[in-house]
Amino acid sequence: MKICNNCGAENKNENVFCSTCGGNSFSEPLSPDMPSAAAQQPVPPSPPPPVQPIIPRKPFGIFDVMTILGFVSSLVGLFCIWVVLEPLAVISSILGFFKGSRYKGLAAAGFVIALIAFLIQLFTALYNGNIIGKWAIQGVFH
Ligand SMILES: [Zn+2]
Repeated sequence: MKICNNCGAENKNENVFCSTCGGNSFSEPLSPDMPSAAAQQPVPPSPPPPVQPIIPRKPFGIFDVMTILGFVSSLVGLFCIWVVLEPLAVISSILGFFKGSRYKGLAAAGFVIALIAFLIQLFTALYNGNIIGKWAIQGVFH
């Protein structure tokens, strides 16, 4: 069977003109056991929607506070009471880096700054004790 495009009447397949209205435009009826060519074509898979990576945000914890404390201590210790603040910075930064859930970079920065502060103080002490010369404590560009 085929369907007249003009009046919708069913016609025999061999009909050239519609038996009802005389039209000559037909379309194949859709039948469930004879799926049309369009339905047989594989549907191209639509690109998956962009998946937002869901990063579970752990609650702001005490070790995240220590990370910030360590970083601030390392900076303040460059200017005053380094003998207290720089060791505090090292401890806080290490704890914050390994136990905290965020600000790893800040923790690493605090640790490195404190390490540099210790090296400066160490070499200054060696110079003041006449163990090393001025060449060792001055910068490369001086
Ligand atoms: Zn017709």
